[in-house]
Amino acid sequence: MVRAKIARRLAVKRTAERSGDKLFRDKLAIGGWSRLYTQLKTRLGNITKVETDRLANAVEALPDSFALWDSKNNLITCNARFREFFGLLNVGLVPGMSRRLVMSMGTKPVRSTVIKKPIGQILDSTSFEVLMSDGRWLHVNESKTREGGTVSVGTDITALKKNAQKIIENEKQLRVSVSDLRESRRELERQKQILVELSEKYSNERNRAEAANHAKSEFLANISHELRTPLNAVIGFSEIMQHGLFGNMTEQKYAEYSRDIHESGHFLLEVINDILDMSRIEAGKVDLNFEHGDICEIFDECLRLVTGIADTKNINLSYKGPAELSCRHDRRALKQITLNLLSNAIKFTPEQGYVTIVASQKQEHLQIVIKDTGIGIPDDEICKLGRPFEQVENQFTKSHSGTGLGLAISRSLVELHGGKLTINSQLDLGTKVSCIFPTVEDDHDLTNKQNAA
Ligand code: ADP
Repeated sequence: MVRAKIARRLAVKRTAERSGDKLFRDKLAIGGWSRLYTQLKTRLGNITKVETDRLANAVEALPDSFALWDSKNNLITCNARFREFFGLLNVGLVPGMSRRLVMSMGTKPVRSTVIKKPIGQILDSTSFEVLMSDGRWLHVNESKTREGGTVSVGTDITALKKNAQKIIENEKQLRVSVSDLRESRRELERQKQILVELSEKYSNERNRAEAANHAKSEFLANISHELRTPLNAVIGFSEIMQHGLFGNMTEQKYAEYSRDIHESGHFLLEVINDILDMSRIEAGKVDLNFEHGDICEIFDECLRLVTGIADTKNINLSYKGPAELSCRHDRRALKQITLNLLSNAIKFTPEQGYVTIVASQKQEHLQIVIKDTGIGIPDDEICKLGRPFEQVENQFTKSHSGTGLGLAISRSLVELHGGKLTINSQLDLGTKVSCIFPTVEDDHDLTNKQNAA
């Protein structure tokens, strides 16, 4: 293609040299058409009709609009693209018409902006960007011909303009997104700061609460310990008086009083012991001594201990399960759990009721259920039970004695075994308290639990 171009140029050069004409140096671009036209006309003064038609056809076939005006600004020629761009297709244009008249017959541009020449451009030409009413954009370049006329070439740049507009809009969108992102980042930073402050506050509050809880547990442990010594003396001396070890009490009333003192002393001692146990558990001061062995004998022992109270209410006590059940356990703790749950079951079961210990060995755990046919617990109360001092009845409606520590101590002791205590109950039908103990537990876990305790 390059070679063909060079050959063409050489041919034109040779023709020009032969005819003695100067070779025009400008490219056949926007301003080149007029020069080409006039030069050809001059050079080929006696141009034939065929050649004129050929030239006119070439101008007509141009993809750009083309119009040639003489030095007085009257129309010499124009192509179909020109007529189409400026809405002159249905207008009878005749060479010699003034430019003002031609343009007044067509569609007026909505906007026409002169484009600044690039620095250093010496060509005598002007460029415009013209917006037509149908939304099309034209780039029009006008150059002077040697005779003082004007050649005007227009290119449709609508697609270019639309792309440029799209790019501007995308840039705008991008700028908005970047600013949104910056804002979000600032907001995130702010929230992070708030979170840091909150977590600091939370940590301080938690430390304070833990310190307060620790102080409370220490206080309860100390006070309980201090109360137990005189209380043991009260229980011991009232027992001596009851049995008349140093001679009979003559007055019957005194005998009754000493029995009441003895019973109340025992009750108080139980309450104090519960408080002490709970404080020790909360302070993490409970030492469990795990052993591996049969737990059924613990159930027998507990059932024997509560038979007396159960008999006073004609409550049927029983055990359902294997004759021997082996697991790792702390004997004292398991006895305390069983006794607490049995005492509750008997306490909240009316006369003639049933209280049963059901034990079973499942694959990886052992389940002990203390079930009764008692008064049951309302659904909305179950979740709060097991926390220290929580009871269904409040101190004004209370019809049963108790501190609200039995379930909490039992639950904590079960958890210290790595197990779980759950309560199921139906009002007026009865309650089931289940303790699940893991039977597959490695020594490492147990040592950890003992250390934590
Ligand atoms: P206490 O029995 O000393 O009040 P617990 O912690 O052992 O304390 O029990 C807390 C509360 O749970 C009891 O006051 C009672 O309202 C309810 N509760 C516990 N066991 C039973 C049960 N078997 N049947 C009905 N209510 C029960």
